[in-house]
Amino acid sequence: ALPVWGKAGTNQERTFLAVKPDGVQRALVGDIIARFEKRGYKLVGLKMVWPTKEMAEAHYADLSKKPFFGGLTSFFSSGPIVCMCWEGKDIIKQGRQMLGETQPLASKPGSIRGDFSIDLGRNICHGSDSPESAAHELKMWFPEGVNDWGKTVDSWVYE
Ligand code: UDP
Ligand code: MG
Repeated sequence: ALPVWGKAGTNQERTFLAVKPDGVQRALVGDIIARFEKRGYKLVGLKMVWPTKEMAEAHYADLSKKPFFGGLTSFFSSGPIVCMCWEGKDIIKQGRQMLGETQPLASKPGSIRGDFSIDLGRNICHGSDSPESAAHELKMWFPEGVNDWGKTVDSWVYE
């Protein structure tokens, strides 16, 4: 069986994407899932979780020295998030591209942040930024594993 983090560099590459509490409150979950589904990616893990402050701190541990860490982790644990594992070719980079830039002002219209957000601390979504962070985040958010299902349209998505 495939490990939960998939195989980077293949059509079974996987990433961790999350709709943050602001995206859930603003009813953007369906729109965000639809973008990845329509592009051709495969959804292999999906659940709603209300993170504790400790889970938020573990998720953003690499930012623990930043001045905004307290506010960020309070916000991230302020309501439920939607945790997703998406699979497909180049999904880690492509996912980041579909999210937009960290800063909403720099995010192009057509990206999730460019379409739905204004402020840096309310930028709607999270996405792993490298194969290493994808593996780390998928292990953390999906310890139970994900679903290795075969998608029958893949021969119309991949050459
Ligand atoms: N963030 C913030 N202030 C900053 C930088 C980042 O509030 O000065 C928030 C922002 O919401 C961002 C999150 O912290 O999405 C994580 O930061 P990172 O640099 O990892 O950006 P991302 O990977 O989410 O684009
Ligand atoms: Mg990040």
